[in-house]
Amino acid sequence: MIKFYNSLTRQKEDVPCHENKTVKMYSCGPTVYYYPHIGNFRAYLFMDNIRRVLKYNGYHLDGVMNITDVGHLTSDADEGEDKMLVASEREHKTPWEIAKFYTDIFMKDARALNIDLPEHIVPATSVIDEMIKFVQALLDKGFAYETSKGIYFDISKDAEYGKLSGMDIREKLAGARIDVDEEKHTPYDFVLWVKAPKEHIMQWESPWGMGYPGWHIECSVIGDKFLGETIDIHTGGVDHKPVHHENEIAQSDSRYGHQVVKMWMHLEFLQVDGGKMSKSLNNIYRLADLEERGYSAEDFRFFYFLAHYSKQQNFTFDSLDMAKNTLKGLKNLAKEHKNGAARVDTKPFEDEFLESINDDLNMPKAIACTLKMLKEERSKNVYDTLLKFNQVLGLNLDEDEQSIPQEVKALAEKRWQAKQNRDFATADALRAQILDLGFVVKDTKDGYEILKK
Ligand code: AMP
Ligand code: ZN
Repeated sequence: MIKFYNSLTRQKEDVPCHENKTVKMYSCGPTVYYYPHIGNFRAYLFMDNIRRVLKYNGYHLDGVMNITDVGHLTSDADEGEDKMLVASEREHKTPWEIAKFYTDIFMKDARALNIDLPEHIVPATSVIDEMIKFVQALLDKGFAYETSKGIYFDISKDAEYGKLSGMDIREKLAGARIDVDEEKHTPYDFVLWVKAPKEHIMQWESPWGMGYPGWHIECSVIGDKFLGETIDIHTGGVDHKPVHHENEIAQSDSRYGHQVVKMWMHLEFLQVDGGKMSKSLNNIYRLADLEERGYSAEDFRFFYFLAHYSKQQNFTFDSLDMAKNTLKGLKNLAKEHKNGAARVDTKPFEDEFLESINDDLNMPKAIACTLKMLKEERSKNVYDTLLKFNQVLGLNLDEDEQSIPQEVKALAEKRWQAKQNRDFATADALRAQILDLGFVVKDTKDGYEILKK
C-alpha cells in the first residue's frame, strides 16, 4: 500500500485515484523567462519520481503541467513586472520568442534527465478564453470583484483561506504593513485578471476590457480543463505553498463548492553550498554547466535519489562526485550480474525496495537496498530484478529497455486512457501511430505491454 505525505492534512495517506487506478496529477510547471536551473529540475525529478512509483504499483497516470508564459510577476504576490516582459526587454525579443526559446531548453533538459513527462503540457496563453470564463464564474458567485486595475479574488469570502500553509490570515491582516490599494477590499486579495495599459505587449480582449491573467488562475483553469473537478495529487516546490497554492485552492474550491485537490505534495529546495540558489548570489547551475564540468544529466538524476524530497538537499561538487561514482559502480555491477551464473533469492530485496518507495518515496532507502542486492553473488536474476527497479530509477542500464522511446510510451498511455473512456476511434488511431514508430501495443490482463514490431 502506498502512503504519501499530504501537506494539506499533514499526514501520510493512501493515494487517491479515479476509476481504473488512474491518478489525475497536476504539477506546477516552469516560468519560461530564463534558463531552468538544477533546483527547478529537482521539482520535476520529484514529479517523475511520483509518476514512476505509481506506475510501478500498477496505476495509470493522467498528468498535466502548465508552462507559465504570461502573468507571473517578479514578486509572487502580484507586484512588479511580468517576468516575460522583463526578459523580452532584456533580450530584445518578443515574449512569444522568449517563451519558445526557454520552453525548448526546458524540454531538452527534461528529456536529458529522462523525466517521465505528463500527458498534457499546456502553456498559459493557450487557455485565455477558459480563464476569462473561470474569472466570470467567480464574479457571478460573488467571490471576486472589479476595480479600476482588474478583477480581484475576495479572500474574506473564503473562510478556509490559508489552510494549506496554516497561516491565520486574520492575524496577518491585523499586522499588515503591505502597500494598501484603496480599492482592494482586503490587502491580501489577489488579482485574477489585470487591466492592461495600452503599451503592455501581452493583452487580450475580455468583458473587462483589454488585459491579461494573474499568475495563479492558470493552474486552476488548466487543472479544470484537463483533469476536471477532482484532482488526486498536486505537486510543487515549498515556495509555492503560502501564496500560489493557497490562491489556487481559493479559486478552485470556491468555484466548485468542494475540495478540488485531494493530496498536495511539496518538495523542499535544492541548496547550494548550504545557501539558497539564486541569481543574485551567482550560484545558479544549469544542466549545461554540469555537463561542461564532465557530469552527465544522469549523474544529477542519481544525485536526486540520495536525499528525501521533504528535506533540503545540499548541492556541492563533492556530493555530485559521490553520486557519479556510486552510479558508475552500480552500472559496472549491473554488467557483471547480466552474465552471472549464480541463483539469488531476490524476493527480500524486491519487498524492501517496494516498501521503501511506497513509504512516501524513500529513495535513499530504495537505493541502499539496490546497492545491497548488487553485492550478492553475480546472478542474472539480480540483473532482471534491477531492471524491474529501473522502471522507477529510470537509468540507462539496458539497451533493450531504453529502446522504447518516451514518445511511444506516452502514446501507449494515451491509447489506454482512450480505451478506458470507450473512445475506440482515438485508441485505434493511436495504435496506428505507435505502429508507424515501429512498436506494437498488446493488451494484457492488467493493462498493456509495448513490443517491438
Ligand atoms: P518557476 O519556474 O520559478 O515557476 O519554478 C519552477 C519550479 O521549481 C517550482 O515548482 C519551484 O518551486 C521549483 N524551484 C525553484 N527553485 C528551486 C530550488 N532551488 N529547489 C527546488 N525546487 C525549486
Ligand atoms: Zn501552479
